[in-house]
Amino acid sequence: MKSPNDPNLTSWISVSKDSDFPIQNIPFGVFERPDGAVVCGSRLGDWAIDLSSLEQLGYFSGISLPLGTFSSEALNAFISTGRPVWKAVRERLSSLLSVDGDSSLRDHLSHRSEVLIPLDKVEMHMPVMVGDYTDFYASREHATNVGMMFRDPSNALLPNWLHLPVGYHGRSSTLVASGTPVIRPNGQRKGPNDPDPVFGPSTKLDFELEVGFFTTQGPEIGQWIPSDKAEEYIFGLVLFNDWSARDIQQWEYVPLGPFLGKNFASSLSPWVVLLDALTPFRTQGPIQNPTPLPYLHQPENSHVDIALQVSIAPEGGAETMISQTNFKGMYWSMAQQLAHHTVNGCAMEIGDLLASGTISGATPDSYGSLLELTWNGTKPLTLSDGSQRTFLNDGDTLTLRGHCMAHGVRIGFGEVTGKILPAKEWKA
Ligand code: MN
Repeated sequence: MKSPNDPNLTSWISVSKDSDFPIQNIPFGVFERPDGAVVCGSRLGDWAIDLSSLEQLGYFSGISLPLGTFSSEALNAFISTGRPVWKAVRERLSSLLSVDGDSSLRDHLSHRSEVLIPLDKVEMHMPVMVGDYTDFYASREHATNVGMMFRDPSNALLPNWLHLPVGYHGRSSTLVASGTPVIRPNGQRKGPNDPDPVFGPSTKLDFELEVGFFTTQGPEIGQWIPSDKAEEYIFGLVLFNDWSARDIQQWEYVPLGPFLGKNFASSLSPWVVLLDALTPFRTQGPIQNPTPLPYLHQPENSHVDIALQVSIAPEGGAETMISQTNFKGMYWSMAQQLAHHTVNGCAMEIGDLLASGTISGATPDSYGSLLELTWNGTKPLTLSDGSQRTFLNDGDTLTLRGHCMAHGVRIGFGEVTGKILPAKEWKA
């Protein structure tokens, strides 16, 4: 049997050349079928694949899946089965869908019509029930830019930054699926020229281009995950928009870090791409100097080459691409983040989400936030309709996209999108 990552694999279902979801991807998600049932599924080209039906029809026989793993409104039960089972399910799907694999599904027309649903007939949900969400700050370029704007240009990186992956605990309660509108938050702010704090809708609503990963069950409290074993605990990756209100953030964040400027919404892409699907796109990260402490040892090919882009569309208007960057430039890797997060004995649970922090490149057209792209509003961007932006306007739709490309195979994440709705009027 061919590896699911083999560039020569083709499917008996036609997939357009520029799709993010060829047979080499096989992501996992959760969707509502046209009959209202919510199930776990996969995707090939423009088809959703109902894994609950496949399971009930016996196509996963021989794989140790607890009964009803995919008849669930979240992937958590599947995540709990562990990496060997994730791999086995992906291999089985690859075989069932490929031209020269197991032909049993291809040759069974009534099963096909039960299992394969046109993508535009399903509604995507949150893929995972997230218990805990942690956000890192792993891009050196982003941390330097923010340090220059919010603190001291000559000491932009704080003394700890090159020695540990800085992070904070976020809130899972306001994680939302792609497409969910985002209400402009109200809050307290005090600009450098304001004599007193003021309250009202944020005037500096921003996005953050990030990549997140889901974990499975970690070792018990008091134990840790070594960086060389970290990937056994990583289920898969999604695109992540950590919406941020910069005016609220700048006033509130000292000394305990992000709070209400961040926790009003964070959006994630609906299809989780397994780390196993990303093997062909693995690469080294930047050289780390000083060398991190031994518990933060950087594994080989710790990074993933994911081309990322950001677009804004005004209400009723066309998209303008405002940034392009790559996930491979992050200073701290996912393995280092997981090793650091657990080295004190902190437990990881099934479906925890760890996000990278804003992914910014070295050049001004590769920054992962409007804070940096417009340098805190001092350099407005011009969109294709001629309008200007310093931060997001009501009615704007912000979209993140990402894909990998190697050996003629493109594997992508699709998109994560969200439209800004006006703030609600605050009343006592
Ligand atoms: Mn963030």
